[in-house]
Amino acid sequence: MIIDTHAHLNFSEFNKDRDLLIKDLIKKDYQIINVGTNIESSKECVKLAEKYGFYASVGLHPLNIESSLKIKGEAEKKESVFDYNTYKKLSQSKSVVAIGEIGLDYWYKPKGKDRRAEFIEKQKAFFINQIDLAEELNLPLIIHCRMAFNDLIEILSKRNTKGVIHCFTGTVEQAKELLSLGYYIGINGIIFKMDLKDVIQFVPIDKILIETDCPYLSPPDFEERNNPFSLELIAEEIGRIKNISKEEVIIKTADNAKSIFNLLIPPLTLLK
Ligand SMILES: [Zn+2]
Repeated sequence: MIIDTHAHLNFSEFNKDRDLLIKDLIKKDYQIINVGTNIESSKECVKLAEKYGFYASVGLHPLNIESSLKIKGEAEKKESVFDYNTYKKLSQSKSVVAIGEIGLDYWYKPKGKDRRAEFIEKQKAFFINQIDLAEELNLPLIIHCRMAFNDLIEILSKRNTKGVIHCFTGTVEQAKELLSLGYYIGINGIIFKMDLKDVIQFVPIDKILIETDCPYLSPPDFEERNNPFSLELIAEEIGRIKNISKEEVIIKTADNAKSIFNLLIPPLTLLK
């Protein structure tokens, strides 16, 4: 079994061939955690997971928080409050294994000191609300973090949650601190664009999760629209850097995913 711990198969990029793709994935023994980014997409994630027998997470992405920042070309619905009860209700599906993706993203900078401070404070508050929900439900977190690792570590060090830092782009030092807080490190196709060799060498294989973040972050020479089948290329690259086989990466990271997300064995697909 190969587990994609971070996919967005509900996104419109898959509208034309979603059903075919998912059936093919199941046939080839893939398991998926399909990750929500707002209420609408979290609902779709749960629906898809229940339909096909895979897993979902629900949560509000930091860039889907209503703010004065306008990001070009985005279509996702923004939310001005964190609707705790709606997310809690969605989490009751047995397909839901995590709260995410949630976190901090300081990549986009609103103009002006006050607006920037407000943007950051709002993200922190929404993030903390969602950590509260995860703690209440005893679920792990799927965390999105860009240019905000120091604030992330400060917040997480005061809490008792566990989970994964998806698409990790921090330093070895930051990875070390997150590991000591009990977090896993999510590795995806960004390793073909950014030099994360030191991080991959440093993090033990039993603390790594593999993921695609599809339809985004396609590895070179793969289809432009990413899909979970590119996990093989990511596992191969991690194996090359750590001097272990691709198969070992696939098996160990699947074990890690089963353990952190408490995945049902046999998987939901086989229970149907
Ligand atoms: Zn994502």
